[in-house]
Amino acid sequence: MEKKVGMEMRANGKINLYLDVLSDGASGFHEIQSIMQSVSLCDRVTVSAVRGQDVRIRLSCNLPYIPCDARNIAYKAAELFCAESGIPAEVHIRLQKRIPVAGGMAGGSTDGAAVLRALNKLFGEPLTTEQLLAAAAKLGSDIPFCLCGKTAVCTGRGEVIEPVENRAKLLLLIVPSRESVSTPWAYAELDKAFGDFAGRKAQNAARFDALCTALAAGDTAGITKNMYNIFEDVILPKRPQAARAKELLLTHGAIGAMMSGSGPTVFGVFDDDDTRKKAEAALKKHGYYPKQAETIL
Ligand code: ATP
Repeated sequence: MEKKVGMEMRANGKINLYLDVLSDGASGFHEIQSIMQSVSLCDRVTVSAVRGQDVRIRLSCNLPYIPCDARNIAYKAAELFCAESGIPAEVHIRLQKRIPVAGGMAGGSTDGAAVLRALNKLFGEPLTTEQLLAAAAKLGSDIPFCLCGKTAVCTGRGEVIEPVENRAKLLLLIVPSRESVSTPWAYAELDKAFGDFAGRKAQNAARFDALCTALAAGDTAGITKNMYNIFEDVILPKRPQAARAKELLLTHGAIGAMMSGSGPTVFGVFDDDDTRKKAEAALKKHGYYPKQAETIL
């Protein structure tokens, strides 16, 4: 490719409808069992590129506190694409962030996945789907899921993904909060509370199966009844804004509400748009900035 070409991508965020931890980090990582779900709340990622003499990457972002150098996952994704494909490219990436940062919604990971997809398209698909997925797994645990999206069971570190049948399009209200949660700290808190996590898979199997059945049947009530996030018990007591947001969602008509990932973002599931709008107004009165979104099937 000799001429500079570009494309704009939607980089969708994710929520976890289910998140359990099955082992401690003794083997180098905590093994998880999760159902991840793409949502319409997304970043806009514009990527333009041209073949060059060597790899050159420039990145800009609408948020001043996001690093624009090799610390940015989108930047790392461009470097990795060039290395894996053997293409020395000059790449320009523009990020318009809308997904809450460090909020448990895989915001950085989805930007990275969008850059991998965009560059592979712009250069005529030099990497196969399998090669892209392998590159994504090198970049970060959530990135393979972000490449594929929709609904999937994610195991291992989160990088082993298996699509799940899902007929339920959920109406959501996503509520970021200003309290921060560092993922390593969240896992350390879990370790203190749960020890070696022995027996958790068997203990929660019925709930996990019921959730899968509800997703396949498009049974919203069954989904909200069986949603689960192990992090809630240890994080919400220490993050009162997020705990309050969850409480407000439930008192204003959400049929279910839960924290996503290691938090602190929480989401509510609604039966109808009218109730969702009223809940949105109520949360705004309490100083929150809720965002409407839908799940992507
Ligand atoms: P996850 O759900 O995968 O744990 P998260 O949504 O909690 O991720 P991110 O929004 O990805 O967290 O941000 C985590 C940190 O990564 C931030 O502190 C930020 O400085 C850094 N970062 C690097 N690249 C990006 C990016 N493209 N967008 C947002 N944050 C980024």
